Amino acid sequence: MHSAARLDTLGTEQAYVVLAAARRLEAAGHKVVHLEIGEPDMPTPPHVVEAGVRALRDGLTRYALAAGVPELRDAIARSLATRGVRATAENVVVTPGAKPALFCTALSLIAPGDEVLCPDPGFPIYESVVRFAGGRPVYYPLDETREFAPHVEAIAERITARTRVLILNVPHNPTGGVATTRDLAVLADLAQRHDLWVISDEVYGQIRYDGRRDSIAALPGMSDRTVIVDGFSKGYSMTGWRLGYGVMPASLTDAMTTLIINNVSCTATFVQYAGIAALTGPQDAVTRMVAGLRAKRDLLVRGLTAIDGISCASAAGAFYCFPDISGVLERTGGGLTCKSFAERLLAEQHTAVLAGTAFGPGGEGHLRLCYATEPAELERALAAIRRLVGKLAPVPAD
Ligand code: PLP
Repeated sequence: MHSAARLDTLGTEQAYVVLAAARRLEAAGHKVVHLEIGEPDMPTPPHVVEAGVRALRDGLTRYALAAGVPELRDAIARSLATRGVRATAENVVVTPGAKPALFCTALSLIAPGDEVLCPDPGFPIYESVVRFAGGRPVYYPLDETREFAPHVEAIAERITARTRVLILNVPHNPTGGVATTRDLAVLADLAQRHDLWVISDEVYGQIRYDGRRDSIAALPGMSDRTVIVDGFSKGYSMTGWRLGYGVMPASLTDAMTTLIINNVSCTATFVQYAGIAALTGPQDAVTRMVAGLRAKRDLLVRGLTAIDGISCASAAGAFYCFPDISGVLERTGGGLTCKSFAERLLAEQHTAVLAGTAFGPGGEGHLRLCYATEPAELERALAAIRRLVGKLAPVPAD
């Protein structure tokens, strides 16, 4: 018996493969440093947990409306003002995480043969859902000389008569890069001139170190052609609650809601009440987390750039470093790729990171490290990388 052929187009996330390998080492009694999974390390803020528990006790345990609890849709619409986006509850569809919002958006917008501009390196699920919807991913690079901002000229060059959607991810996984105000304006102009939809994945929008909070959807003419994909996983440390949303022109919400009805019926009702508390309650836990993450980023970037053969940008968002280790790989005479380096780092030094190529061919020569963990763990990871680099490619004495 075989599954239907359409499933052959679906990809996966390497992070889960590496996590499984790391867990096997732990089961064998080893201590592993985990920098592979992209997850905040603070607990969900207590008032959010309390709101979820209270909702359960109050009997909010039945189906919700498919597009979401009206109070949550309204709270989400209001919260968008901080990024300059004007929306009402009619523009919001609540989903069990940002991923389903992305999946439903892809199925709603992409027709067979459509070309979709995707970042490379980029979140691997973009390619996966674009192919599943029958579209063709067309990869655009990031500008490494500008801390991995989207390369707007390269995007412009790749637009054809078949291009239907531009996927943007700001701040960006795996690099932490952000777009400047000018980049967003140029991209908005391109989208309007070429009649493109924009899927703007803003799941790391709260985790920024430059104090900015913006969205391409806020620019003139863009709310009619943008779907914001967002959620509570990263900013409020709610990865296991499964709560996300899409914000879109009201004309698209019926299609999205139909997909929800056919798929999950609705997002867990009590979880949505926790989401209302997250958005409308105190934000100090988020502010503290972002300040802590900034110090961790600085620690890791300092430690990585001190290693001969490694360079690392200090990116303005998310909780990832994306060091270029090609100097180290070259010293091994080409015998090692970033993937085999990451595998050896896990097998020999018990430190789990992802190869840059887990995010597409544009990640060659890089690693992705999630620094949302204790500083002592980051120090251990740095020591492990130094040991492996020293073993692989001794720096010749002059
Ligand atoms: N988009 C990006 C860029 C991500 O990195 C992730 C999670 O890693 C998601 C979306 C999915 O988030 P959620 O947990 O809300 O489904």
